[in-house]
Amino acid sequence: MATRLYPLFARLDGLPVLVVGGGGVAERKTRALLDAGARVTVGAPDLTATLAQWHRDGAIAWLGGDFEPRWIDSMWLVIAATDERAVNRRVSDAAAAQRVFVNVVDDAELSSFHVPAVIDRAPLQIAISSAGAAPMLARRLRERLETLLDHALGPLAALLARARERIRATLNEPVQRRAFYDRVIDSDVLDLLRAGRSDAAEATLDMLLATPPATAPGSVVLVGAGPGDPSLLTLAALRAMYQADVILHDRLVSPAILELARRDAERIEVGKEAGNHHVSQDRIHALLLEHARAGRRVVRLKGGDPFVFGRGGEELEFLRDHGVPYEVVPGVTAALACAAYAGVPLTHRDHAQSVRFVTAHTRDSLGVLDWKSLAAPRQTLAVYMGVAQIAALQSGLLTAGASRRTPVAIIENGTRSAQRVIVTTLAQLPRSAARHAVKSPALLLVGNVAASAARLHWFGAAPIDDRGAQPRETGAMRRAAA
Ligand code: SAH
Repeated sequence: MATRLYPLFARLDGLPVLVVGGGGVAERKTRALLDAGARVTVGAPDLTATLAQWHRDGAIAWLGGDFEPRWIDSMWLVIAATDERAVNRRVSDAAAAQRVFVNVVDDAELSSFHVPAVIDRAPLQIAISSAGAAPMLARRLRERLETLLDHALGPLAALLARARERIRATLNEPVQRRAFYDRVIDSDVLDLLRAGRSDAAEATLDMLLATPPATAPGSVVLVGAGPGDPSLLTLAALRAMYQADVILHDRLVSPAILELARRDAERIEVGKEAGNHHVSQDRIHALLLEHARAGRRVVRLKGGDPFVFGRGGEELEFLRDHGVPYEVVPGVTAALACAAYAGVPLTHRDHAQSVRFVTAHTRDSLGVLDWKSLAAPRQTLAVYMGVAQIAALQSGLLTAGASRRTPVAIIENGTRSAQRVIVTTLAQLPRSAARHAVKSPALLLVGNVAASAARLHWFGAAPIDDRGAQPRETGAMRRAAA
């Protein structure tokens, strides 16, 4: 099934629906349709005892005998639940001819609509579909969700539906209503409903509605989104993303992570890439202020950790100066994430007693580095934004006395499906980067521990070992190393 299904919930109350088949499966389908208020006709030569009873009670109509296409006349929906594929196919064809949606149980190919696995907290329902590709998987997922989702959610949804007009009349702004719903969900309303005390729950809701919170000022949460793998987000980051009205995000933040944010949050990309400044830092400050002053909950989402080469400090200074409340959620910084996913322990009893995070963004940032101390042995350097200045980085370290054989791991797209790891040496670093066309984002780990990527890697493609290749020293390289 290559096509992507369009999810929908059908309203069937009072509408005629046909179920072809009179066995156990047909009975189950009929029960679900009756629950949705459909007027069910069952077509089959024989009925189960229960179906027969329903027929006697007048709950369903019954067409006896073999399937005939005219059974579909005036139906809105058809379900074929016979155990004969030939019959099911005739039903499917006849339904298609009359442009009526048909589901053939357990037969994706003959079905024009699928019936999802459902977690039922009516009026709240969660439907899961694998488009027929792996029904078992959908069922397992359903079991998992069943245990996760509070049974009081159904009564809560019903309560909110009953109160909806009152809520709308009291709170006219969508932003106010959202905040109110958050307060209800965080209150003890759910506990009361679970205890069957719906009157008390309703009273609590009315009390909350009568005492609106002091209009919350806008705020900014500086959130570290980690290196790319969504599973490395912290729970605090997820929570902030669910609550955000506006998300200002870097280009480095992966789409898979943005997917997890609240659907209707406004997303603004303020990405920056080396040498390609999309939005100036001043403009970012202005945007933060503008949205916070409008009373919105702003999330400033940054790759990795906001305080590691992320200009998070400058943004906080600015917010503080302008009296905007803020919080900071740390993220897994690229050095930690890339090291973990490449199998490089950053410290090691025998090889490295300290780790240094260094940026090699521009020639200027290289100029202020203390090369002597960076070239010292028994430490690991994690070099951020080092791709553009890779030759200058190499020559800086070699000139200060670092060994030409110092292992270097280049980790491109760390923690993402496209992760590449190249293990090389300081002597060959620029050549390796050029030969394998290394692109941003990439992190360099310099030091003896970097060699262990060749042995300890576990994630994604096997590392490329570039240590064996002997470089021909070019004049340019000799000059760079001099
Ligand atoms: N605040 C970020 C760093 C921002 S600077 C953090 O804590 O990780 C951007 C640099 O981070 C990139 O040039 C690259 O060197 C590094 N980086 C970020 N994500 C990366 C990833 N998934 N793989 C490799 N390097 C990454």
